[in-house]
Amino acid sequence: MIPPMSTTATPATASHPVVTEAIELARDARLLGSTAAILGWDQETMMPGGGLEHRARQLAQLARIEHSMATSERLGELLEKAAEATASLPETHPDRVNVREFRRDYDKATKLPATLVEELASTSSIAQHEWAEARKASDFPRFRPWLEKIVRLNREKADCFGWDRANGERWDGLADSYEPGCTAKYVEGVFVPLRKRLQPLLDAVKGSSRRPDGSFNDHPMDLDSQERFARFVSGAIGFDYQRGRLDRSTHPFCSGSHCNDVRMTSRYSKNCMLDGLGSTMHETGHGLYEQGLDPNWISAPMGEAVSLSIHESQSRLWENQVGRSLPFFRWAKQRMPEHFGNAAGHFSAEQLYSAANVVEPGFIRVDADETTYNMHVMIRFEMERAMISRDLDVKDLPGEWNRLYKDYLGLVVPDDRRGCLQDVHWSGGMIGYFPTYTLGTLYAAQFFEKAKEAMPGLEDGFAKGEFRPLLAWLNANIHRHGRRYLSADLCTQVTGAPLSADPFMRHLEAKLKPMYGI
Ligand code: ZN
Repeated sequence: MIPPMSTTATPATASHPVVTEAIELARDARLLGSTAAILGWDQETMMPGGGLEHRARQLAQLARIEHSMATSERLGELLEKAAEATASLPETHPDRVNVREFRRDYDKATKLPATLVEELASTSSIAQHEWAEARKASDFPRFRPWLEKIVRLNREKADCFGWDRANGERWDGLADSYEPGCTAKYVEGVFVPLRKRLQPLLDAVKGSSRRPDGSFNDHPMDLDSQERFARFVSGAIGFDYQRGRLDRSTHPFCSGSHCNDVRMTSRYSKNCMLDGLGSTMHETGHGLYEQGLDPNWISAPMGEAVSLSIHESQSRLWENQVGRSLPFFRWAKQRMPEHFGNAAGHFSAEQLYSAANVVEPGFIRVDADETTYNMHVMIRFEMERAMISRDLDVKDLPGEWNRLYKDYLGLVVPDDRRGCLQDVHWSGGMIGYFPTYTLGTLYAAQFFEKAKEAMPGLEDGFAKGEFRPLLAWLNANIHRHGRRYLSADLCTQVTGAPLSADPFMRHLEAKLKPMYGI
């Protein structure tokens, strides 16, 4: 039995005065960041449109002050001394972890010259506007000069951060900000075997004459009832509404200021209840990770998420391993009449399950099913890696994009709006981010296999609404470590093996083979 988590925030203190001083100074800067996060949440959910201009100034000022605090000479000196004071502690000791990770952040923040930070920020704010206009008109040439500039500035950024010149490549210097320790070689070592197994499975699904029943995906359901049901489900799987909120926004996200104040949003679609439910399960997975972080270490690395991929592993695990399983739908179906009356009475749990698992290659990443989603990510990784290494000229992006969509998914991309202009990431200056989605998907499958091994009958419990054992396992094995391990090491620590595509493929095959008769 794992004891229930304590959520009281008794700030932990370090063993050595200089370590305490360094950690407290660094935490002080983080406090501003978490204040900005609440303003950012407010902007997306509550703020009237008239507040936009002033809010941008408020956020810019907070970012400026935070950056100057996080890069002060005094903090650098203290972290230096704290590193000496903790050098003899075990590598996983909270003091050593906090000092090491604060140092990592300090180095990152001080390595970029202020002029480059400003140029990146101003370029991406205009580029995002230009991208939105270009996407509307499906006009890549309009966006092209901005993307060229972003790629150039990102090369400079990578050079400031540095990378392993003997074994690595420039892209690694960018990925490290989203996924500490991640390199293109590591990603390739995971993606190539994944594609080798994914492609034949997808071909078999496409070639099968059997089609699962997707009729529930076209069944209109009342929007307010959907929202109430989504809130009920996220509470039932463990989201603590005393320490968080769920609201609506155009693009679902999870943010907040710390583990005791987590802000999630979701969106609902009249004709497809499963879209809203899946999006809520996804954000709840992020929210459960945030709520599971150590309250004693708010604003310090021991109380922060490891990386984007591990964050994504938590959202995918609840969305896919739990929320697309038959036992989950057996439970959900029983609880639906309380929220929807008889509006979906004639659908069985099996029909809900099959509608949630239909495979259909499409052009748009964010609409993709669990199987084809990773193809979209692999394509983006190939492209951004090639743009950064100069193997691909930005002007050739649309042609190369369309070639890869034909190759991976067998699709002929009709226009750039549904092609290389669909995602916001590159226009926002984020290169090196995309692979974290698929790495997270694979981590999710590997963690879940381990959890099932540790707790036989885990999935049968879902049918009875028993989700807490899984959450307690994730709390103890993943959440409570904060940034103690890098993602890849955490995976080995938790599952006893390095990240592999095999658990994810076993998860997909077990589902799709009977469903498609392959
Ligand atoms: Zn996510």
